[in-house]
Amino acid sequence: MKNKQKCHLPPYIVDPIISLQAAQQKIGWNITAFNLPVAWEKTKGEGVKVAILDSGCDLDHPDLKKNLLKGKNFVNPSQPPKDMCGHGTHVAGTIAAENNKIGMVGVAPKCKIIPVKVLDANGNGSMGNVAKAIRWAATSGADIISLSLGSPSKLQQVRKAIQYAAKRGIPTFCAAGNAGKTKEVFYPAAYPETIAVGSVDENFKRSSFSNTGENLDFMAPGGKIFSTYPPDWYSILSGTSMACPFVVGVAALLLSFTRKNNMSISLGTVDDYRKIFKQNTIPISNKKYAGNKFFQGFGIIDPRKFVEWCKNNSN
Ligand code: CA
Repeated sequence: MKNKQKCHLPPYIVDPIISLQAAQQKIGWNITAFNLPVAWEKTKGEGVKVAILDSGCDLDHPDLKKNLLKGKNFVNPSQPPKDMCGHGTHVAGTIAAENNKIGMVGVAPKCKIIPVKVLDANGNGSMGNVAKAIRWAATSGADIISLSLGSPSKLQQVRKAIQYAAKRGIPTFCAAGNAGKTKEVFYPAAYPETIAVGSVDENFKRSSFSNTGENLDFMAPGGKIFSTYPPDWYSILSGTSMACPFVVGVAALLLSFTRKNNMSISLGTVDDYRKIFKQNTIPISNKKYAGNKFFQGFGIIDPRKFVEWCKNNSN
């Protein structure tokens, strides 16, 4: 078949998969390290819709289903966007798993997810479908697009779709890639129209798998991330695929807060988000690379600083 350029970016690192039934809610290190419960006093992401273009989602997951909107399946259009792989469900949990008594909790536990399936059961998909899905999301009510996928080769068709979304005020956040020290992050993360996210571990050190490059924007927790997994379970995975949704969750908090407070700050482009996020980072803890854009972008997104930002910028 033509147009089967593959977009398997996760070779996501399975750490290994620890599948668990989590009867009691366990808060992941990514949430506790940044005191997210304090940020939730400002907003939990209510009113924001995030389109996740991935392997679909576990549509009945007890920790997600209240936050799932109707999505779309671009792999098999007659079917719902059900996740046969696990990757998309894990990403969804990091953004928006509910703050209840079970499992885990996402960064923005009241934001809504539009699950868009572009990757099959093996995590493969066509870039043509990814481009179509971006355009669909941009005209279907999404406020933000989350892309934990990519390729080392340029993806012009996908770039055009990202530009189409950007013109409609919808920013795209992308995983940087899991190839370690590279000359550049993967595409579409390398395009200036996206925010490229790399991974840090629980010691705030750069994850050794995380791509490096001039177009790297920010770092976020991507090592040993505990999140939702089909069917109705949980797993611990590592990868820049896990870091990207953390930043998307913080973006959802930011957008929700500005809307709730009728703030005049515009959040319609990746540059708008980049500008605010840049003021709210901390450096990675690797002494050799701290502050070096090629290795850490503008630093680790720090939601503790978001709370300060809210205090300083609200009416
Ligand atoms: Ca939960």
